[in-house]
Amino acid sequence: MKFAVTSRGDDISNTLKRRIETYLLDFGLFLQEEEPDLVITVGGDGTLLQAFHDYSHRLEETAFVGIHTGHLGFYADWIPEEVEKLVIHIAKTPFQVVEYPLLEVIIKSNDETEKEIRYLALNECTVKSIEGSLVSSVEIKGETFEIFRGDGLCISTPSGSTAYNKALGGAILHPSLASIQIAEMASINNRVYRTVGSPLVLPQHHTCLLKPLNNVRVQVSIDHYNPDIGEIASIQCRVADEKIRFARFRPFPFWKRVKESFIGD
Ligand code: NAP
Ligand code: MN
Repeated sequence: MKFAVTSRGDDISNTLKRRIETYLLDFGLFLQEEEPDLVITVGGDGTLLQAFHDYSHRLEETAFVGIHTGHLGFYADWIPEEVEKLVIHIAKTPFQVVEYPLLEVIIKSNDETEKEIRYLALNECTVKSIEGSLVSSVEIKGETFEIFRGDGLCISTPSGSTAYNKALGGAILHPSLASIQIAEMASINNRVYRTVGSPLVLPQHHTCLLKPLNNVRVQVSIDHYNPDIGEIASIQCRVADEKIRFARFRPFPFWKRVKESFIGD
């Protein structure tokens, strides 16, 4: 088996990364950063997000597992003290795979090229205006649903629902639900502007299309990235055909992770 280890870059994570590499090489596995079967991330959820984007061109071949050197993570759910155990699992047993849904984002630019760029997000895509409020039509399944006016919109995956989406009052969705969630950021609601006000959950194949209407400059984020896209005609979101594959070596149910992260023991 070919593996790669990525690190958040701090001393503790770097040291742990080198230890894991040494252990796995001693077990006869191959360190291969270009085409790994398994990517082990050391750091936090942000480190796994980064690894996802680094290897998003080979999601069918690469599985992920995360170790956290800070607080318990949603993607990074192994602790450094368990590293020996994890390494033995990796070396000795074929791992089970759990698949989580991803968000597909297709951004159409407003210039003469009408260029379309496709992104995959593991957590979410956000749309905000750089100055002033965002005015955007929200179409669902080809029909205008509302005209949004406010700070912005967040479209998240189920596994991203515990991140930015949660801070916006969105629901936590179990990652077995192939769906996307639209959450509002401070919508303006008065006699002139009206939005639904509640987060919406769309099933697979229901497309959400955002068309910014005012001439403000729009800022789009894809997970931790802010791609520079220029003037935007539309942003289309739906459940992606691709999935992320996590290597599972022991059960750690999603609701248990939610409880341990947000409520405590
Ligand atoms: P960051 O600023 O370090 O991330 C913010 C926090 O979100 C960190 O504590 C991070 O955990 C955690 N996080 C990431 N993915 C998560 C998930 N799926 N469930 C629960 N918590 C999660 O930046 P980053 O590490 O590169 O992460 C980028 C993410 O930050 C974005 O995708 C967005 O979801 C989130 N964010 C949240 C807010 C907000 O809540 N108001 C605002 C902006 C961005 P680690 O410390 O383990 O990395
Ligand atoms: Mn982080």
